[in-house]
Amino acid sequence: MLAARGRNWRRWRSIINGLDIPVPWDSTEFCARLSARRGREIRIMPALANTAALPCGLCVSTTSTDYIFSVEGMTPLHRDHILLHEVGHLLAGHDGPPVSDDTARRLLPDVDPALVRRVLGRTVYSTREEMDAEYFATLVLALR
Ligand SMILES: [Zn+2]
Repeated sequence: MLAARGRNWRRWRSIINGLDIPVPWDSTEFCARLSARRGREIRIMPALANTAALPCGLCVSTTSTDYIFSVEGMTPLHRDHILLHEVGHLLAGHDGPPVSDDTARRLLPDVDPALVRRVLGRTVYSTREEMDAEYFATLVLALR
């Protein structure tokens, strides 16, 4: 995958070059630096119980904050991959469907559902956007 250095590789490389990726890798520090750069908070949320209804990663955006969820039972590497995949969607400006009030209340009980704008779920890489986010995650993890 990394051998195919086409236009997409160059686009992501220039985005990645503009990021301040901590060395050694630290997901909390990565999110803190990225939050400062974007002027929007990124919060890693506690892992959710794994149910068939949930993809293995999920990003819920409000007017001020992007909340990233993973599900229980993942290795740290897999969790980092999920985090970066969701960040890839955010950096690429992918739009998810709007969130129902029910889902908003379930995932973010302390947040007013009216402030929740969209949800990005991780599916089975069927779409171009999924592949794009996956590509970003793979590139960043390869840099560590
Ligand atoms: Zn995705």
